[in-house]
Amino acid sequence: MLEIKNLHANIDDKEILKGINLSVKAGEVHAIMGPNGSGKSTLSSVIAGKEDYEVTEGQVILNGEDLDDMAPEDRAHKGIFLSFQYPIEIPGVSVTNFIKTAINETRKANGLNELPAKDMLQKIKKTAELLEIDRKFLSRSLNEGFSGGEKKRNEIFQMAMLEPKLAILDETDSGLDIDALKVVANGVNKLKSKDNAVILITHYQRLLEYIVPDFVHVLHDGKIVKSGGKELALELEEKGYDWLK
Ligand code: ADP
Ligand code: MG
Ligand code: MG
Repeated sequence: MLEIKNLHANIDDKEILKGINLSVKAGEVHAIMGPNGSGKSTLSSVIAGKEDYEVTEGQVILNGEDLDDMAPEDRAHKGIFLSFQYPIEIPGVSVTNFIKTAINETRKANGLNELPAKDMLQKIKKTAELLEIDRKFLSRSLNEGFSGGEKKRNEIFQMAMLEPKLAILDETDSGLDIDALKVVANGVNKLKSKDNAVILITHYQRLLEYIVPDFVHVLHDGKIVKSGGKELALELEEKGYDWLK
């Protein structure tokens, strides 16, 4: 599904990613861990195609297609979902209306008609039930006054509605409380299938107790310095990152 080959990327002429190789197949969950500043968020941004980053070498290939200079929205239409670390507030636009628009834009970009209103409502209802989201939440303005946990819930709701082929969740270093952690884990576990893949970027071993990864990779100074199975996360918890430098 996703093939990253010798990826180098700069921000403001400073090299941050220094030759990343990563292969993700459908049905797999990959965790990417590593100390603060190692390039985890940069990697997710580059996969999503954010424009502040310059790819100087290497490739990101999705289902055989080199994404090269493809715009972020086109990548999204091809099934890449990136969770937002700092979600925007849109007063006056409800959670529901935002996702309706996003879904119909995606369908349009893929040559499909708008989802009939009845089917859309059905899908919203089903997804909300699956993720235990109540109706009141769905009619609130997007991210306005949302708590950390509510932002997470909305993000996972968006992911569930959009049914991405590749979901990249960047859980940042700034405290996810246990409830938010469970929202993320619960959502990912319910949505995981043999047809999609998840890249979970996290500082926390704890999250990996709830979402068990197939592979764990450690990023250090813009390179993957170690890869292993889920037991690697436990080893990192015990020994920290210094032994890998
Ligand atoms: P991580 O997510 O692993 O903590 P980041 O990808 O956020 O790491 O950052 C990697 C490096 O890139 C850090 O040295 C950071 O200071 C630098 N960096 C990140 N974003 C920017 C930016 N917008 N401008 C300049 N440097 C940046
Ligand atoms: Mg950081
Ligand atoms: Mg980060």
